[in-house]
Amino acid sequence: MPKAPHLVILGDQLTDQVGPLRALLAGEAAFSLPVLVIEVTGNRRARRHIQAVAMQIAALRTFAHELTVRGLATEIVAAETLPAALTELHHRYQPSGLTVMDPAQPQERAAIESWGATCGVPISVVPNELWLTTREEWAEFRAGRKGLRMEFWYRRVRGARGWLMEPGDPTTPLGGEWNLDHENRESLAPGMQLPAPRQHAAPSIVGEVLAELRDDHHALFGDAAEFRWPISRSEALEELELFCQDRLAGFGPYEDAMSREHDHLFHSLLSPALNLGLVTPEEVCTRVLREYATRSSEIPLSSVEGFIRQIIGWREFMHHVYVDFWREWEHDNGLQASEELPEFYWSGETRMACVSRVVHKLQRSGHAHHIERLMVLGNFALLFGVRPQAVDAWFLEAFIDALPWVVTPNVVAMSQFADLGRITSKPYISGGAYISRMGDDCSSCHFTPKESTGERACPFTTLYWDFIDRHTDRFARNPRMATQVRAWSGRAKPVQREIRARANEVRERARRGEL
Ligand SMILES: Cc1cc2nc3c(=O)[nH]c(=O)nc-3n(C[C@H](O)[C@H](O)[C@H](O)COP(=O)(O)OP(=O)(O)OC[C@H]3O[C@@H](n4cnc5c(N)ncnc54)[C@H](O)[C@@H]3O)c2cc1C
Ligand code: SF4
Repeated sequence: MPKAPHLVILGDQLTDQVGPLRALLAGEAAFSLPVLVIEVTGNRRARRHIQAVAMQIAALRTFAHELTVRGLATEIVAAETLPAALTELHHRYQPSGLTVMDPAQPQERAAIESWGATCGVPISVVPNELWLTTREEWAEFRAGRKGLRMEFWYRRVRGARGWLMEPGDPTTPLGGEWNLDHENRESLAPGMQLPAPRQHAAPSIVGEVLAELRDDHHALFGDAAEFRWPISRSEALEELELFCQDRLAGFGPYEDAMSREHDHLFHSLLSPALNLGLVTPEEVCTRVLREYATRSSEIPLSSVEGFIRQIIGWREFMHHVYVDFWREWEHDNGLQASEELPEFYWSGETRMACVSRVVHKLQRSGHAHHIERLMVLGNFALLFGVRPQAVDAWFLEAFIDALPWVVTPNVVAMSQFADLGRITSKPYISGGAYISRMGDDCSSCHFTPKESTGERACPFTTLYWDFIDRHTDRFARNPRMATQVRAWSGRAKPVQREIRARANEVRERARRGEL
């Protein structure tokens, strides 16, 4: 009888809940043993957050260890690159073929298939069921569409699954509206008590991995003293439980709020676990819907709707568009931005209280929530005019949940508008007034959010008007930007001159590290 193929598991596919490993464990599929888990050691030298690298390695080793303890022969194959790891396993086991779930990164699939063709090893790439939606579902959605907007994708996916739909009417969203974001704009009241997210000592394996990284002298972003991230499925499920019990109800109203006192507010903190495969989007959504079903008098519909939209809307959408457009996003720079990122993106040393707080939080934890990513860090880079690919590289470096498939569409397309609107209809920009409305940073800042000129002018506010000025021709034609362009054109010429002069000064100071 011909030898069965070996099963290969990549570092972001750490699941026994779906796919070929589930089938093997259920006796529904046969593979030659051991199961081969790939550790790409070259990632340690990439510019990443120290906690992201430690979490990845610790989770991978924990996963392999748990399978072995359950009686399934499992081995980690570690090598500098993915093709080198495949060559290594080829030497060890001479596999008749390899089966692998479709990698989240299309470049990895290409590398595996190309290696297989060169080495004469048959490769079987099977669907990656860690995604809730398939490429076929996406292709049907895309067919004949000019613009790609998350909202329409979300409605389609939600309707198809019957999630949060009116009972007995599969075409009508529960409560009559698809999107309740207009209810989700609260800022925190001073002194408000918030549930504390899980805080526990990092498992010993994390300490071991951190010691290895220190011995290897890798120059990684941030520090690891406050490591709090799940590295196993059971820890990820615990995170999900705590979110459902303590934070889901407040998720919607305070989704966009920022706070000096509370790092994570009502956010789920599930992105690192989801991105490694420790929990699946399907089970996260199902668990959240179950919580809503049992506590619908306590949990606002806007919280559940908002959360489900992040997962089945944004997360799935961003992956599909990445597979389609990653090549373009490597070069897109439609606004011809040419600055480099100021040094304070690494040090946090700036008088801008909002930026400084978020960068220091990142150093400690690797996490900042969506509005801090989009409207503080991304917004400043866009207004300042930083090369989109430099912003992309920094986001990949600084975050616990960063992987190219999720960073690039969020950064290059959504936050930096470098493709001039492939997936969004306008750039996400604001002056200091928005940041002041949604959080409490401005009260402790050297700058004043409403001022656009003078020594105390908020750099966001000055650069906001400067951005509109520099791109007036382009945005005058955009119906969602025309009001701002008119507001700028209506300002007195001397005021415009003053704002331009202050913008140049802000730029100079940022370049010199004196902002
Ligand atoms: C500039 C920028 C960079 C980002 N970089 C990353 C990144 O490196 N990794 C990452 O996982 N997410 C990224 N996001 C998306 C989002 O900000 C994070 O997923 C979220 O803040 C993670 O925290 P959380 O798990 O507490 O999320 P919650 O607020 O609790 O949201 C729930 C889940 O929804 C998903 N989600 C929400 N928004 C998005 C989105 N826009 N794209 C993809 N998934 C989404 C995440 O899986 C998240 O865990 C980025 C967004 C922006 C604007
Ligand atoms: S004044 Fe401007 S720079 Fe300072 S915290 Fe507010 S928005 Fe940020």
